[in-house]
Amino acid sequence: MTTPRVCVVGGGLVGMALAYGLACAGESVCLLDQGDVAWRAARGNFGLVWVQGKGVGLPAYARWTRTSAALWPRLAQNLLAQTGIDVQLRQPGGFQLCLDAAELDEEVRRLNWLRDALGSDYRFEVLDLPQLQRRLPGAGPTLAGACYCPDDGHVNPLLLLRALSTAMQQRGVSLYTNANVQRIERVGEGYRLSGEGREWTAERVVLAAGLGNRELAAQVGLNIEVQPNRGQILVTERIAPFLHYPTSYVRQTAEGSVQLGDSHEAVGLDDGVSRGVMSDLAQRAVRCFPQLASAQVVRTWGALRVLSPDGYPIYQESREAPGVFAATCHSGVTLAAAHAFVLSPWLAGGAAPDDIAAFNDQRFKESSHEG
Ligand SMILES: Cc1cc2nc3c(=O)[nH]c(=O)nc-3n(C[C@H](O)[C@H](O)[C@H](O)COP(=O)(O)OP(=O)(O)OC[C@H]3O[C@@H](n4cnc5c(N)ncnc54)[C@H](O)[C@@H]3O)c2cc1C
Repeated sequence: MTTPRVCVVGGGLVGMALAYGLACAGESVCLLDQGDVAWRAARGNFGLVWVQGKGVGLPAYARWTRTSAALWPRLAQNLLAQTGIDVQLRQPGGFQLCLDAAELDEEVRRLNWLRDALGSDYRFEVLDLPQLQRRLPGAGPTLAGACYCPDDGHVNPLLLLRALSTAMQQRGVSLYTNANVQRIERVGEGYRLSGEGREWTAERVVLAAGLGNRELAAQVGLNIEVQPNRGQILVTERIAPFLHYPTSYVRQTAEGSVQLGDSHEAVGLDDGVSRGVMSDLAQRAVRCFPQLASAQVVRTWGALRVLSPDGYPIYQESREAPGVFAATCHSGVTLAAAHAFVLSPWLAGGAAPDDIAAFNDQRFKESSHEG
């Protein structure tokens, strides 16, 4: 076996997008993934490519998110051309539905903050209820209104994972499953990764192990204090298309099923579901779209977000172990395109992307939780 130059640890959406991007940049890459025992946000998420409201308190994150959304059509086209897999990207804009006037006021405050911070090209519209119902005919009569951002969209996240996995392997990435990396050690000009009797070596290492990054990164002096945050999702039976835009709580997939979500709970490593939260999600969804009252829920699950102390990504090269990087974020669907096309060339040794310093691992004392 030839030694790859870059070893990516973690086969979730972050690790796969980076491995794909590194391979596109001409690197020889291997990807090590722990397997089905792991917590895997990439298999349980909501599928939004979401710009609206991201980066309040950290304009660099708003720019990073917009960059990724703008690169998404290229990612989807490249994946389709290479693998034949259509990840069902749609970017018609998205609605943040607001249940009462206070929610709408708060959303408008956040978006105005972003517009001030980013310049007047930050695009959004504020809609009262009649305006919203003209744009989204099924929207419920008790909503206060909504904010609309034309940059928002959604994809099928499981197809995305499959497409990235297929594309990266077609581009030469070696994928090792059941590869539980436990130790990182310096050897000569590179690093040895080992665990459970197996080992791999590479010149560069990218830690993209989701919640597993915390322990791995500490071995090379990186401060990646990610915590789990559970989200629960309900999925209905397939119904006739009625919702042609993603919203933050409800989206209809290309197949017709409707996903209800956006709960946030700090419950440690429990990725189960609970009746109270599921009931709240269902009730809110019915307020948003009353016709959902008659739709059957056919599946539910919980999954764990990978959350840094301030909610923003961390991209950092180790000072103790040059060539070892950590990458983590809680919006790995949205950021997949930026990871593939902008972050990967840096990990391979190219110039650092603009704003990368904002995502360092030493910043947490200064910022608030916004994400
Ligand atoms: C309920 C929910 C809804 C979400 N909705 C959205 C959304 O709408 N839009 C959006 O952009 N994002 C969303 N996200 C976030 C998104 O799913 C994650 O950002 C994305 O999955 C990236 O996660 P990851 O690759 O960092 O981690 P994971 O998907 O958790 O993957 C980590 C991988 O690392 C591997 N691993 C861990 N430890 C080791 C080790 N020691 N050795 C080897 N491998 C290891 C695991 O096997 C796993 O495959 C949502 C998340 C949740 C939970």
